[in-house]
Amino acid sequence: MAGEAQPDCLFCKIVSGDVPATIVRETDSTVAFRDINPQAPTHVLVIPKVHYPDAATLAAAEPQVLADVLRETGEVAGAEEIDGTGYRVVFNTGAGAGQTVFHAHAHVLGGRGMQWPPG
Ligand code: AMP
Ligand code: ZN
Repeated sequence: MAGEAQPDCLFCKIVSGDVPATIVRETDSTVAFRDINPQAPTHVLVIPKVHYPDAATLAAAEPQVLADVLRETGEVAGAEEIDGTGYRVVFNTGAGAGQTVFHAHAHVLGGRGMQWPPG
């Protein structure tokens, strides 16, 4: 069934609690936790509890959950107090763009200056 947990998916295992993570927020449909290899003073991942390989696929299948993920990026930014200075939300999509975990996730990055164009 679409969206069901995948046995070999790291982020499904974080949702189920089988893999530990430093969880900062949780809702009925999302989990937010600190990235294990932070690229900024604040680096939090917001994921849907349902499994889809990337954000666009999630948007097509369950748009309300994608909206929940985006709303949570704002809640994380507020809780981390990076909303005043600005922060970046990144959805790496595809291996060529740096995606390594194929369960949709938003990176919330802040607490330092950001360059544009991104690397
Ligand atoms: P991406 O490269 O966009 O697919 O992002 C995957 C992110 O997951 C990377 O930034 C990793 O550092 C992060 N990551 C991998 N394993 C874990 C873990 N066990 N707990 C928290 N973050 C993780
Ligand atoms: Zn998954």
